[in-house]
Amino acid sequence: MFKKILIANRGEIACRVAATCARLGIKTVAVYSDADAHAKHVASCDEAVYIGASSPKESYLRWEKIIETALATGAQAIHPGYGFLSENDAFATACQAAGLVFIGPPASAIQAMGLKAESKQLMEKAGVPLVPGYHGANQEPAFLQGQADSMGYPVLIKASAGGGGKGMRIVDKSEDFAAALVSCKREAINSFGDDAVLIEKYVQRPRHIEIQVFGDTQGNYVYLFERDCSVQRRHQKVLEEAPAPGLSEAMRQQMGATAVAAARAVDYVGAGTVEFIVEQQPNGDMNFFFMEMNTRLQVEHPVTEAITGLDLVEWQLLVASGEPLPLKQEQLCITGHAIEARICAENPDNQFLPATGQLKVYGLPEHVTFERTAGGSTAVNVRIDSGVREGDTISPYYDSMIAKLIVHGATREQALARMDEALSKTHIVGLNTNVQFLRYVVRSDSFAQANLDTGLIPREEAALFDQEPVGAAWAVAAAVVHTLHAERAQADSNQSVWTDPWAKRDGWQSHGIRARVFEFEFHGEKVAAQLRYLHDGALQLSVDDTSGALSYSYGDAGLDISFAQHRIIAKTYKNSDVVSIFTAKGAAQIIAIDLLEHARETHEEGGRLTAPMPGKVVSFSVKAGDKVVKGQALAVMDAMKMEHTIASPTDGVVQEVLYQPGDQVVEGAELLKLGVAV
Ligand code: ADP
Ligand code: ADP
Ligand code: MG
Repeated sequence: MFKKILIANRGEIACRVAATCARLGIKTVAVYSDADAHAKHVASCDEAVYIGASSPKESYLRWEKIIETALATGAQAIHPGYGFLSENDAFATACQAAGLVFIGPPASAIQAMGLKAESKQLMEKAGVPLVPGYHGANQEPAFLQGQADSMGYPVLIKASAGGGGKGMRIVDKSEDFAAALVSCKREAINSFGDDAVLIEKYVQRPRHIEIQVFGDTQGNYVYLFERDCSVQRRHQKVLEEAPAPGLSEAMRQQMGATAVAAARAVDYVGAGTVEFIVEQQPNGDMNFFFMEMNTRLQVEHPVTEAITGLDLVEWQLLVASGEPLPLKQEQLCITGHAIEARICAENPDNQFLPATGQLKVYGLPEHVTFERTAGGSTAVNVRIDSGVREGDTISPYYDSMIAKLIVHGATREQALARMDEALSKTHIVGLNTNVQFLRYVVRSDSFAQANLDTGLIPREEAALFDQEPVGAAWAVAAAVVHTLHAERAQADSNQSVWTDPWAKRDGWQSHGIRARVFEFEFHGEKVAAQLRYLHDGALQLSVDDTSGALSYSYGDAGLDISFAQHRIIAKTYKNSDVVSIFTAKGAAQIIAIDLLEHARETHEEGGRLTAPMPGKVVSFSVKAGDKVVKGQALAVMDAMKMEHTIASPTDGVVQEVLYQPGDQVVEGAELLKLGVAV
């Protein structure tokens, strides 16, 4: 076994790999960029070496520098994690040439599976079922259109070099094909430097079911069962689970054997995932087709660890150091059910726009970080693999996934309940995340009933987006109680400045009854509240047309609030003037308006269109002089590995376009000037 390895990655996966190494007594070397100088993964390793500027090209993708660092620090092997260099066959070759072990498959296997089109040709020969489609070399638009027309719509255009859900376009009818091809090729060349595409029949009610495989250098192979990753947005996984609900034992074995055949066809070694698209027929029959093989550790590998009780990183290390696979197929079994949720810094209510900023509060449920659960023991119910800590800043340079929450239960129902509970105790303040959205997905009828396919999120749309689980009256009550509690805590901690609440500047007194007024903004609407201090010391709160007695106590679970004969337990946090409220039902945010502050400057964006995040301008769909309407797409930006359409905030006329496609812009940069339409 290795004595020291370098981890050529960042974020949660670098921390995850470091945890297994620490358990096995293997020393670790972290590498980091400017943006990551104080990142968690740096602290998780035994030593750390700076490798360059924040942009991945200047640091995590600089493989000469990484190899040089491994040699200089005496590391024997490099673990690439996922993303970055993990599927780069030239890097694997260069490691070998430098006398370092690349912890992954041989370069030849990476290359064989690297391009979707070529890998399909190989798989066809190995007898692996493929989705009907064209994956040849001819890239003539007219020829591809002809292929799509004869296949029948809908079809999917896919970048052969694509990954991470990028470079894909669904086309519903022949007339739309040409435009979709152009846009797909543009995204492919920008993201992958290769604009070759393939065309596939778009499978109906598709489920994404993938098989974890493992091979060793002695030619042994096993499959570690399946993961269902059907819950997706923009072709990216949101929730993953194992085993796949409703998959028969016969089909599990058939898919497992097919995945092993695919791995064997490329002399695969190490951890790999064979992804299948599964067609569900009205009579319940399921057909599976090969989509691609990911020649690395997968983001969602923890659900496999939870149901098998194995440490896949340990297996990777064993295999890479020449050991045989620790177990044979017949020694492997599934225990219970596991679900993973990807926690991302993004705003689901605004097209999942990635968010950057500081994690002011990062409150997590009780969990383990990573622990080997021998024999699939259910001792570990909640696991969190996190790449961040409270106080860390999410930069715009890397992808938006900050942590993974993995739950295990004896049954799917139990795992589901644990997931909801754990998400309800995940309190992140300071930037937008998808935590509440994940709760809605987990609680949706489709997910609860395991009615899974990749259309789940759009189908359940009404229950997933723009939800308001707390309500204005309760949000106000919680914010008022938060204020009272904070004032009390402050007074207790500093007796000398104790001022009684009646003396607050926003208080007033009339007929012996003292009162305070509060003003809030909730979902863009002003809400006023009046708090009265009655003679007996009781509190009376009025919000809109709800009025009633208010009382509270404070304990470990947060504030226990009674208002107008109802009771909730809420955790509240204040970050400048925003109060975040977390309850069992869900979370809310409310802005406390300081009545004594001068009229606040309003951020009227009227005639400006600004970049919602730092990134690169891909294109403008308008030019100076064009009339536009509110909501019309004006520009496309590329940020955090995704393309985002920027819509017009208002009706108007474009006066000036201020950037060129390809320009890098900072958050808030004015992209174009809009004038009033005449
Ligand atoms: P999974 O491991 O479940 O397949 P993804 O497909 O989302 O997960 O990809 C895993 C990670 O690798 C993500 O960070 C994703 O952004 C990144 N990634 C995948 N393919 C590429 C690629 N071709 N180029 C850059 N990043 C990629
Ligand atoms: P990536 O490399 O980006 O992961 P994949 O080929 O694995 O690309 O496809 C990503 C997702 O797109 C799948 O998980 C599935 O949801 C959807 N998808 C891919 N191919 C098809 C298809 N032929 N029919 C329907 N959906 C598909
Ligand atoms: Mg995929």
